[in-house]
Amino acid sequence: MFTPRQPTLAHRFACSLRTIIFCLLTCPGLGIADDNSVAAQRASDTVRLYYNFKRIDPVAEKVIPAAYVVVANNRIQAVGSGAPPVGPFDEAHDMQGHFALPGLIDTHAHVTLGPVTVAVEDGIPQLGVEYDPAITAHNAKGLLAYGVTTIRNPGGDAAINVAYKRDVAAGRLLGPEARVAGPVIDRSATPFEGLADLVSEDRPIEAIVREHAAAGVDDVKLYFSLTAEDLARGQAAAEQYGVGSIGHVGVDWRTAVEIGLDALVHAMPTSPDLLNPEVRDDYLQNRRPGAYEFFEWWEQADLESEPIRDMIATVAASDITIDATLIAFYLAFWGDQPAVRDAYLELAHPKMVQNWQTLFRFDLGWTAADYARAKAVWPKIQTFVKLLHNAGAKLTLGTDQGNPFIAPGASLMQEMILHQQAGLPDYAILRMATSTAAELLGMGQKTGKIAPGYDADMVFLKHNPLEDFKALETATLVLHNGQALEPEVLKAEIKN
Ligand SMILES: [Zn+2]
Repeated sequence: MFTPRQPTLAHRFACSLRTIIFCLLTCPGLGIADDNSVAAQRASDTVRLYYNFKRIDPVAEKVIPAAYVVVANNRIQAVGSGAPPVGPFDEAHDMQGHFALPGLIDTHAHVTLGPVTVAVEDGIPQLGVEYDPAITAHNAKGLLAYGVTTIRNPGGDAAINVAYKRDVAAGRLLGPEARVAGPVIDRSATPFEGLADLVSEDRPIEAIVREHAAAGVDDVKLYFSLTAEDLARGQAAAEQYGVGSIGHVGVDWRTAVEIGLDALVHAMPTSPDLLNPEVRDDYLQNRRPGAYEFFEWWEQADLESEPIRDMIATVAASDITIDATLIAFYLAFWGDQPAVRDAYLELAHPKMVQNWQTLFRFDLGWTAADYARAKAVWPKIQTFVKLLHNAGAKLTLGTDQGNPFIAPGASLMQEMILHQQAGLPDYAILRMATSTAAELLGMGQKTGKIAPGYDADMVFLKHNPLEDFKALETATLVLHNGQALEPEVLKAEIKN
């Protein structure tokens, strides 16, 4: 491997920001307020018919005309087409002109993440995250407004994330159902009080994994600075304590596969080990700390090279899942173009927007030349995602919502469009956002499909998403465990 250079304070600050930049975190100890009105609004024992719409089936790759569903007890009771069944129904809704999709799944949504704070003590930056239940509620509504009825939250305070999951499940909080992780488990030079759980001699990785599992998380998040040995021990502990593992790893992805991690995140396999030997030393000597890696590594990466071809084949042949979070990088690379970057910013919480505009952003300090270099590698990143798909890698769609300029809900639509621009077929993208994600998250028997016995998770659109994924902006009705929600009402509640 390599020896890091002695960091200056500015570098430490940038490194610190880089470390928190993905997948971070909230302060412990705060619960989510009960909201009994939400429980009261939940669908009860009504039996409802929705009929006369076009049902899009991403698995069969078909559009079924004159479709209907019967929803009873928060579940889908019957699905069909042609003449709808005769009741009695408590409600019957003519959905003429609408297209219906299964409820969408964002596999990378930090729904509880609040603004990042920085305080300097004795000349050393101290990073934190301000937790705010109002921001969580805002993000949750934004996700639902775009038809996102299920998420994986791959990093945050364990108690807060578990409380979110339980509050949603119990009907105390309006938001997508969640599979959740705790704080990132890392080995970093700079401690992050309350943000990351750092491995040390006193605190081995097994103890941290055990604590997270005891707190009730579904997954542990294994982070960038962990060694291959750390990752192997973390994976063994995850198996022992019955939780999944998500890696935002600094090691070669083939190592992550060998170790048996369940998931990888971000289309940024930035291990120097994957670079050709003739450019590796140059890269290591000239690279800058922080998010510059997002394009500097790609400038040196050769998709035709043996290590990268082998890496793609290895992840594709394994069960490991990947969400590319293209939107997270896109919004940084186009950070010099506010019209692009801020297209959906009115849906983000004002405190988050202010945080991103003033402090917490990937492109902090980037010059015009940096933005140009970043945009220049974008086609390579798109090709990488296409190669992963072509090879059969198990891709889902994640946004890294909560990170800079990533608006809840709308960002999943953007992620779908970015995958389309990368050359993936529309139906494949729809499966990645529904049935495939559900299966890979272990929820394949309850959501991700419009089928009898499944949770009534659906989104009705005025326009056809197979013509343009922007049709998700025309959602008029979202069913979330049978609860009928109006996207326009949700958007109006959260718009700045
Ligand atoms: Zn993340």
